[in-house]
Amino acid sequence: MFVLSGFDLSHTPGACAQTHAELAHQFSVVIDAAHGGTDTGAHLTEQLDEKELALNLSVELRSTLAARGIQVTTTREMDVNLPPLRRAEIANHRAAAACIVLHATASGHGVHLFTSSLPPASAVAFLPWDTAQAAYVQTSLRLSSEINSALTHAEIPVTLGRTFLLPMDNLTCPSVAVEIAPLGRASAKSDSQPVPVTDPGYQQQVVSAIAAAIVEWQQDWGH
Ligand SMILES: [Zn+2]
Repeated sequence: MFVLSGFDLSHTPGACAQTHAELAHQFSVVIDAAHGGTDTGAHLTEQLDEKELALNLSVELRSTLAARGIQVTTTREMDVNLPPLRRAEIANHRAAAACIVLHATASGHGVHLFTSSLPPASAVAFLPWDTAQAAYVQTSLRLSSEINSALTHAEIPVTLGRTFLLPMDNLTCPSVAVEIAPLGRASAKSDSQPVPVTDPGYQQQVVSAIAAAIVEWQQDWGH
């Protein structure tokens, strides 16, 4: 686990005495780079596996958010095996305002946004582990729509979906899986080539759009 704060907690009096309840009132974001270790994910190119791109995007998004003073926790900072259960434990411990799960694919077009396919349920004191996300489905859909707006604003096509995807169904925070896919043709010109997911400029655009959405989300949060 890697915790990065927008400010230095060690110089904040009483910071060590923070309780879980107090953490819940801080705006923080969890980023989960999907796959890792022996779980390579998709083979995006000869040289690049999905696990690697997901981690690169996670690192980029973390530093972009940290530069805006947003507290970020990542589930992994290295190429390691991390079971869904462990990812959910890390995320749920933070009581985060947003959980972003990062995937990549060589098929499809633009960015695919997934929210849990669980039917929405109202929050109860003890959420069943397998369906914990049900209490957050409505908020997750709002978060997804915020990210959708930011990507659309950046002229990146978006496909919205609901799916069963671990660890998302176990997360007790508003959660969206963001899957980056090739960008199709850059323009209507017939000779233009699709932009691959390996394109650094495209990756940067996607990261900036997610960060912009989270900044918006922060403004609405707590009101
Ligand atoms: Zn994946």
